[in-house]
Amino acid sequence: MSTATQRIDFDEIKHAVSMSEIVTYLSIPGLKQKNPRQWKGNCPFCKGIDCFVVSDDGGRDKTGAFNCFKCPAGGDQIELVSLMRGHPRKDPKGALAAAKELHEKFLGRRGGEAPNRSDTSPQPQREKRQGFDAETYAKTLDPAHEALAGFGIDAEIFRAWKAGYASSGVNRGRLALPIATKEGRVLGYMGRTVKDESPVLTFPNGLSPQEHIFGIDRVTGGSLYLLRDPIDVLKAFEAGYENVVCFLTEEITSLQLECLAALMDERKCESLSFF
Ligand SMILES: [Zn+2]
Repeated sequence: MSTATQRIDFDEIKHAVSMSEIVTYLSIPGLKQKNPRQWKGNCPFCKGIDCFVVSDDGGRDKTGAFNCFKCPAGGDQIELVSLMRGHPRKDPKGALAAAKELHEKFLGRRGGEAPNRSDTSPQPQREKRQGFDAETYAKTLDPAHEALAGFGIDAEIFRAWKAGYASSGVNRGRLALPIATKEGRVLGYMGRTVKDESPVLTFPNGLSPQEHIFGIDRVTGGSLYLLRDPIDVLKAFEAGYENVVCFLTEEITSLQLECLAALMDERKCESLSFF
């Protein structure tokens, strides 16, 4: 590994911080969202008109890329931040500074800066969760555990969704499923019972089931399918459906419907089918 001197992993950053987050973070003037995963506008570097494209799923590993058709600017999240901070192209020092900046901003001790919008009451537990390390937690889960066999879902599907059986922690004895923002940041894990027991879903402190939609981060344009349970979402995904989501509550409030409507609007989903 080339990260001997720093505890900063470029690959980790590229996987953890999406281009859409970078676009928001940098607020590049004149950049317009063309579709859920693409932005287009004037190049901030050569000032060319409409030649600059940023995509959420571009690049070799589909972790995001940007490109200018008129100048040589192009690359990943780190290169974009480096260039925006005035460093030359492909500058190792600039890249390290940009990686540090992104690490601090998005992966570092997030306890101190509280990027939350919807908090009402401060809870001690919440601070713990802000430092939640989804990557590390996902590694403790077993997607192929025998307790999950009853779902009839392939272990690869659980793995693809960063889900799995939890043998320890608050979700112990349950299927742990990520709760993600629409940008794909995993905020925590809920526990889905693997038996016939109530409650079906349990949530970590500070994460309100009303505020989240399972599968939201994977929605692209087209038809949207609303199912009843995260398990149904995974099964539909396994069957080849995309754009499948579910609410995490038994009863649905108008606020939840508004969130879904806003998502459909933003991601250009023209229809909704409910099952
Ligand atoms: Zn350019």
